[in-house]
Amino acid sequence: MPRMADALSAPLFERVAIIGMGLIGSSIARAAKHYGAASIVVAGDRDEAVCRRVRDLGFADVVTHSAVEAVAEADLVILCVPVGVMGDVAAEIGAYLKPGAIVSDVGSVKNAVVEALSPHLAEGVWLVPAHPVAGTEYSGPDAGFAVLFENRWCILTPCDRSSDDAVAAVTALWRAFGSNVETMTPTHHDLVLAITSHVPHLIAYNIVGTAAHLEAVTQSEVMKFSAGGFRDFTRIASSDPTMWRDVFLHNKEAVLEMLGRFNEDLAALAKMVRWGDGDGLFDLFTRTRAIRRGIIAQGQETQAPDFGRRGPTSDPAAKA
Ligand code: NAP
Repeated sequence: MPRMADALSAPLFERVAIIGMGLIGSSIARAAKHYGAASIVVAGDRDEAVCRRVRDLGFADVVTHSAVEAVAEADLVILCVPVGVMGDVAAEIGAYLKPGAIVSDVGSVKNAVVEALSPHLAEGVWLVPAHPVAGTEYSGPDAGFAVLFENRWCILTPCDRSSDDAVAAVTALWRAFGSNVETMTPTHHDLVLAITSHVPHLIAYNIVGTAAHLEAVTQSEVMKFSAGGFRDFTRIASSDPTMWRDVFLHNKEAVLEMLGRFNEDLAALAKMVRWGDGDGLFDLFTRTRAIRRGIIAQGQETQAPDFGRRGPTSDPAAKA
């Protein structure tokens, strides 16, 4: 049974600064408040309109459009911006980090982020890269919710800029949010996520793009009969274009490796269809069905036909 996390009896950090008030950053800020993980939650976003919205939503103690101001005196800084701008943000804040501070991130790619952040961090500032494997296809500060990370995995990828204490502190934070924490190398992370997340998104973008280009099928027919499988792809393919552009630009090798394998398997599948290999198709579909059942059994998915994602529209009660 999935567990629900309780609020902590004492905060884990005095001051946590979160840079980027999008879906993930605003969910972390909400979660830090909801579970009592930080005494002071500082929200940083470059856009003054977003800062105003965050003030209205009221889930942070301090809100500022200046990343430099946000990180001053913070014990933990979490970068929640697209992978391609992690280095720019680190360059901006690097000199203003408190000695002993921990820098973490939530980027969906890890090798490129470690490379981008490391040069900007002074001796004595620790880096603990992280990737919460949780999300929805929505963006911005209104999309976040406090329980987004409950019963989801958070992968930590310690590097030579991590210390054991810093890894333990970041692990405790994600556990407080109700996440299960796993540790692996950045390279292994990038390979695993290429097949479980990045290539599936690429396939969704591709199939929705193909349908949009088909002249024989009118736009209205695509919409009308979308329940036949296409609709689920459109959900994935509506994910944030900036985030996903950056994922593919920064996890190129692993994505191309997995895409190569995918293409080989797709060619084998096409052959089965062409030659009427019903047994081959039936065997494969039986194995793939078992994989989905295994995912549901592990609590990483529900039976609901919406990918089990707890977005604001599907579970308004989850918003906090
Ligand atoms: P989002 O809702 O689109 O938010 C992106 C945030 O990054 C916004 O606050 C945006 O600021 C900020 N940003 C964009 N470009 C910037 C720049 N050049 N300088 C400073 N800030 C900039 O995206 P998200 O889904 O939260 O994704 C954030 C990170 O989480 C990404 O690295 C992504 O890989 C990772 N992630 C996403 C998911 C998911 O399912 N969405 C899951 C796990 C991890 P503005 O408010 O000014 O636009």
